[in-house]
Amino acid sequence: MVGVQQSVINLKMYINGEWINADNRETRAIKNPANGEIIAIAPEGTTRDAHEAVDAARKAFESGVWSGLSAQERATYLFQVADKIDENAKALTRLETLDNGKPLREASYDIADAAACFRYYAGLITKPDGFTYHVADPMQAMVVREPVGVCGLIVPWNYPLLMSVWKIAPALAAGNTIVFKPSEVTPVTAMKLFEIFEEIGLPKGVANMVMGAGPIVGEEIVTHPEVDMISFTGGTKTGKHLMRQAADTLKKVSLELGGKSPNIIFADADFETAVDYALYGIFSGAGQVCSAGSRILVEESLYERFVSHFVERAAKIKVGPGDDPETEMGPLVSEEHMKKVLSYIEIGKQEGATLALGGHRLLENGLDKGYFVEPTVFVDVEQNMRIVQEEIFGPVVVIQKFKDEAEAVKLANDTVYGLAGAVFSNDGAKALRVIKKIRSGITWINSYHPTYNEAPWGGYKQSGIGRSLGTFGLEEFQEIKQININLQVEPTGWFSHEK
Ligand code: NAD
Repeated sequence: MVGVQQSVINLKMYINGEWINADNRETRAIKNPANGEIIAIAPEGTTRDAHEAVDAARKAFESGVWSGLSAQERATYLFQVADKIDENAKALTRLETLDNGKPLREASYDIADAAACFRYYAGLITKPDGFTYHVADPMQAMVVREPVGVCGLIVPWNYPLLMSVWKIAPALAAGNTIVFKPSEVTPVTAMKLFEIFEEIGLPKGVANMVMGAGPIVGEEIVTHPEVDMISFTGGTKTGKHLMRQAADTLKKVSLELGGKSPNIIFADADFETAVDYALYGIFSGAGQVCSAGSRILVEESLYERFVSHFVERAAKIKVGPGDDPETEMGPLVSEEHMKKVLSYIEIGKQEGATLALGGHRLLENGLDKGYFVEPTVFVDVEQNMRIVQEEIFGPVVVIQKFKDEAEAVKLANDTVYGLAGAVFSNDGAKALRVIKKIRSGITWINSYHPTYNEAPWGGYKQSGIGRSLGTFGLEEFQEIKQININLQVEPTGWFSHEK
């Protein structure tokens, strides 16, 4: 595998075991968000490229070269992928930081998680599955799981490798073939993963990768009749559009979408722990995390003290390039995204919210070439403000007050989203009572953010459909078939022979 290169990296797409450029030779420059420098040139794939990739995946699926292997054989490949990710962890970490901007510390967790995810699904696929049923004699009924077929996998830029692996590992484990599209903003580590697939000898056509714009390459995958299912992670608006596009061919659709997650802090919480996790909940990943705790709800009696300590701590966060070991928060992923985040800060001010901290792009200390935004805190917000209701996806948090449990739950649930949420309290019964009322798929008590390959990940309401990870994440990529076996092979006699 190629290590980190000082010079510009030439990316290629991977179709039917071949490394290729875009059909029309067009390319896209990939930039380092810490300084705007070009780090890679990616092919700007076309609908024709996507079509070729689907063709390759369909042929590979029908040939049985992958689905025909035993689970143990597929697992052997996946374990090798995990080992190769670990062997190349340092290089992959640096590339992820270079491409996405996240601090090395965060990137190194992502890469380790990616290897662990492959191992998890390699192990899981060899475990017993299916059911048998005691039905009336002489029948025996059973259920088996089978691959869905050709899976179109489309991912965003915030965890470029990890979000890819959350889909690719279970899809391959289940015996599917795939057409994968990384985000056009962050395709670098995905190519490295496909180099690993080549290196371990994954059969040609099983895993295909196209790069390029969502509305072109992505849409071709979503509408192609030979694609059996779409697994998508990205924005809610894109998810809705994609579901409509997939309707004509009635594809199975799995969606991991946006969030505006509540982090509820009661006055009886351990104060330092609550402040600490609240900071981590919103400012890790510079807030570009789908499950970010972007709405902090604090019990009235604790509110002033909480805001003052939170702001004091947030002001000390070291913002800088991800490859500086001192950096605690990196840049936003692109200039375009930075502009979107800054425009939300303006909206918040116009809506009448008070800026308690930050609110600006950072330009000093050599940060002017990158896309850095200060940790930003809004207070005095109203529930109907856009900065309370809409996903900003940056280092911007709103802190609200609540009077009692009932109001906390009401405010927490009052957005269209339902991805994540947390409660901080030393009253265990209260914490559980409240968390059970939160309409979200991923929740924590006295914690924020840890996620496990074993546990399902996904949202309620407009945060998505279906689940990633765990056994649920594997089932997304499986069809369920009932087989009814007659143990007494003789005619039923239902229709008489007489006319
Ligand atoms: P996005 O929706 O703009 O793009 C996601 C992917 O979809 C990209 O690969 C893009 O090229 C592709 N795409 C765009 N238009 C398309 C179309 N018409 N047809 C097919 N594909 C299309 O999202 P983004 O800005 O890359 O990522 C940020 C969003 O992702 C946030 O909303 C965040 O909450 C969400 N996200 C959710 C989860 C989760 O697990 N729920 C995890 C990470 C990110």
